[in-house]
Amino acid sequence: MNSNNTAHAGNTAPTTTASTASTTSTATVADVIAVMEEAYPPELAESWDKVGLICGDPDAPVRRVGFALDCTNAVAQAAVDTDIDMLITHHPLLLRGVHSVATNTPKGATVTTLIKGDVALFAAHTNADSARPGVSDQLAEILGITPGQPISPNKNNPELGLGRIGTLDTPMPLAEFVQRVADRLPTTEWGVRAAGDPDATITTVAVASGAGDSFLDTIIELSDTTPIDAYLTSDLRHHPVDEYLRAGGPAIIDTAHWASESPWLTQAQQLIHDTLGLECHMIDIRTDPWNLAAKQATK
Ligand SMILES: [Zn+2]
Repeated sequence: MNSNNTAHAGNTAPTTTASTASTTSTATVADVIAVMEEAYPPELAESWDKVGLICGDPDAPVRRVGFALDCTNAVAQAAVDTDIDMLITHHPLLLRGVHSVATNTPKGATVTTLIKGDVALFAAHTNADSARPGVSDQLAEILGITPGQPISPNKNNPELGLGRIGTLDTPMPLAEFVQRVADRLPTTEWGVRAAGDPDATITTVAVASGAGDSFLDTIIELSDTTPIDAYLTSDLRHHPVDEYLRAGGPAIIDTAHWASESPWLTQAQQLIHDTLGLECHMIDIRTDPWNLAAKQATK
């Protein structure tokens, strides 16, 4: 989903670091692109999106592939330092118009780090959101939800599209489900927040990885005909959520953008490892920009 596309210094993440065995390979950047584009067809990307190869030579050999949600400069440097030939991210580095890649700009510094370090960069963004399995499928599954129909189906193929609505493996009170979300998603400093009756039973959940506030009205409309007990997404704001709740929207859960989308990286890593047998490395940097949180005493 939409990225704010801002570069930030990374923190050490508590998420998994996975390296897989290498085989002698003559794969190229173009070979990796072909596998990614078969799984996440670029034509599924939203019209405003920019997906695909951002820098690098399609003919360059690839021995080691890195994975990260965002290509911050810290991530780019980590890719160089760990001998990665090609970095796969979810968020496009250069989503909007760029007139400079000077090193005194955050994105310019990152592009320069990649090019000097001979690292190709490729992004699968809203195409990976819409494809199946895609980003929201991975999010649903990690939370114990069997992903069903999209929240916003693709016009040409309604099985594909943004967000998923699915059934929880065990119905549970909202408070318990919110705790499960906190326990199962990658850790961030500020965790998870929610609005709704803590004791309400949650069976059917809609999830939209990344910034899903554009679906608030859709969730209200869908819940007239489809039972939806809770909606989980990221980057939610005061007024839209207040109005959604007053319009009768189901319980709502807000997670860190980074936390809802990072689980997809495991799916992409598995894909590249299984199809091309390349050495894969998860870059162990948490790019959630928030690194402090304080709980207030209840008054
Ligand atoms: Zn996103």
